[in-house]
Amino acid sequence: MKRSGSRRRIVIKIARRMLQANDDVAATNRRAFAAAGVRVINILGSPGAGKTALVERTVRALRRRMKIAVVEGDIATSRDAERVAAAGAMAVQMNTAGACHLNAGMVAQAIEGIPLKKHDLLIIENVGNLVCTAPFDLGEDAKVLVVSTPEGDDKPAKYPAIFRNSNVLIINKLDLAKAAGCDVRRIRREALELNPRLIVFEVSCRTGRGLDGWYDWLTKLVAPRR
Ligand code: MG
Ligand code: ZN
Repeated sequence: MKRSGSRRRIVIKIARRMLQANDDVAATNRRAFAAAGVRVINILGSPGAGKTALVERTVRALRRRMKIAVVEGDIATSRDAERVAAAGAMAVQMNTAGACHLNAGMVAQAIEGIPLKKHDLLIIENVGNLVCTAPFDLGEDAKVLVVSTPEGDDKPAKYPAIFRNSNVLIINKLDLAKAAGCDVRRIRREALELNPRLIVFEVSCRTGRGLDGWYDWLTKLVAPRR
């Protein structure tokens, strides 16, 4: 019993040290972003929640108002980067070679090829995962969590850490809520119980419904502070 207890303490220690090392690199990223005057969002969510669809819509809607660059985190393929580039943003694919989340070091590598000063907004699309993406600071200004109605309305209760760590919640695929038997108000209510400061948008990236509020929020984030 004592043995396994001490082993557990060691595992926790290593995990803490790993996150500490990540936070140091994230702080360096944050300084680089601030020096370049670029705002950064980290988009989180399950595979199929609509993260890339949100990025495509956002780039198409805002590309005349601001310069947007995108880092696409994926385990394999460059499909998402191709979609986003077709929408009109500079896109860099960051393949994680099997890893199920981005860390600050991967982002540092990805932004080497991006002229940050020439951009107003950097969108980082994380690997589709509601678990281990949550604790990794990438140096972003805001974490944006995308959940979609076909995933069900029980996600806040089942994955509380990612709801607590996020700044914005986008409930996507409103157009499918009824067919999926998903109670959108329950998602909103339970998410806000976990994190009362969450900013919530209910949208459909397919039809465009509800996205104006999201665009306004992003525009304010990017506007220079006086
Ligand atoms: Mg994607
Ligand atoms: Zn992971």
